[in-house]
Amino acid sequence: MCGVALACVSACNEANNLLPDTVLSGGLHQMPDDLNANTKNIIKLYKDGGFVGPSEEQFATYYNDLEQFEQYQGRMREAHSFVKRQCMHCIDPACVAACPFSALTKDHETGVVAWNAYQCIGCRYCEVACPFEVPKFEWQYFNPRIVKCQFCDHRLGEGQEPACTSVCPTGAVVYGKRDALLEEAKERIAASPGTYFEDRVYGESDGGGTQVMYLSHVPFTKIGLPDLGKVSLAWYGTWVHSIIYKWLLIPAALYACMVFIIRKRWHHHEEEARHEAKKTGLPQQI
Ligand code: SF4
Ligand code: SF4
Repeated sequence: MCGVALACVSACNEANNLLPDTVLSGGLHQMPDDLNANTKNIIKLYKDGGFVGPSEEQFATYYNDLEQFEQYQGRMREAHSFVKRQCMHCIDPACVAACPFSALTKDHETGVVAWNAYQCIGCRYCEVACPFEVPKFEWQYFNPRIVKCQFCDHRLGEGQEPACTSVCPTGAVVYGKRDALLEEAKERIAASPGTYFEDRVYGESDGGGTQVMYLSHVPFTKIGLPDLGKVSLAWYGTWVHSIIYKWLLIPAALYACMVFIIRKRWHHHEEEARHEAKKTGLPQQI
């Protein structure tokens, strides 16, 4: 449905006071090729192999002569797809789990994963942890920030929807409650079986579930959405931490006790040697 008007990209920049990124286009047009410190929302073009062709049976029925086969191959070569990329506002966000200073928080009421400048030390753990490669660091500034979509939380607070969804002229991007969106997506799938990849909604349970979800007529991995399984990366992180604390804390505590006892004995031995030296007048020996 996306007509690549890029209205959502411009609206995002305007609503979030971001300078248009004109570097790659030589200053003629806003043309970043990925999310960056000036771009929280982007429409990406994926070329080559984006087109999902007919099944083997359909292929045998419709493309049983050379001319049709060549046409089909041409469509495969020319295939391209557009996808909107921004923070997915994960239900169990890896960035929040990775942040050592709670600068990233998940609001379970609104679904927004928000960043707080006053608590961020710029360690960039969130950048590494995010499976969607969303958070970006302002390398160009002396006092850099982490930049990512905040779901226009300043607009939500005023009862408005995010800037990107408010301007989309084709309805390719829709805003609403997660349950209602899931229901609508499933109705669309039911109304056109076989149109959408695997007849399923990306984000319903991928990576533990996301607030931003996709229907796609091409494989999700072809449009840059990773195959994450159903368990969130944050869950794995918590599990690893619990193992570390459970199994490494006990040996660490024993080691600390041992060091304490040795140091105490050593100190006692020193005291005795000093006392002996004072009594005999001979140099202190330990
Ligand atoms: S997409 Fe990345 S930055 Fe956004 S909430 Fe999920 S883990 Fe965090
Ligand atoms: S860069 Fe900031 S927000 Fe990201 S993990 Fe470090 S402290 Fe948290």
